[in-house]
Amino acid sequence: MIFKTDSIESTKNLGRLVGSLLIGGEIIELTGDVGAGKTTFTKGLGLGLGVNETISSPSFTISRAYNARDDINLVHYDFYRLVDAGIMRNELEDSMSDKKNVVVVEWSEIIKDFLPKDRLIIKIAAINEDCREIDVRAHGKVSESILRSLS
Ligand code: ADP
Ligand code: MG
Repeated sequence: MIFKTDSIESTKNLGRLVGSLLIGGEIIELTGDVGAGKTTFTKGLGLGLGVNETISSPSFTISRAYNARDDINLVHYDFYRLVDAGIMRNELEDSMSDKKNVVVVEWSEIIKDFLPKDRLIIKIAAINEDCREIDVRAHGKVSESILRSLS
């Protein structure tokens, strides 16, 4: 399903809508170039999950976790700076096995083989300075039901 947004706020709103549909256990892969809006989308997702803290890019720390509503944790990964997943792979797998976690991954290339098939893949592309094309795809039962709720 393809969405178009024309501002930071509208990208956040789409993220918020997705976040509001999550119950824990979902995996969300975000792809797109630097500056596409992956972290902006995640900030919105956090709003939909009831995260009170400010979500910032985990590029330097690789991962950050936030308390969300209903005992859910939002765990946000960004593997941009890593050449090899190394020990982070175990951490990621632990995060994904806990059904209380919603796991969001930016720059998933180096760990793609470890992600489950059932995940929401969100591809963001800049059309121009303010416009983004956001392609949301589902691959499995859980992610497909989220996608259906979006339409
Ligand atoms: P990424 O995490 O993909 O590197 P960020 O979310 O950190 O990207 O940055 C996106 C940048 O694009 C921000 O500077 C933001 O202000 C800008 N921007 C402009 N228009 C949009 C839009 N429609 N949606 C999201 N970000 C936008
Ligand atoms: Mg980012």
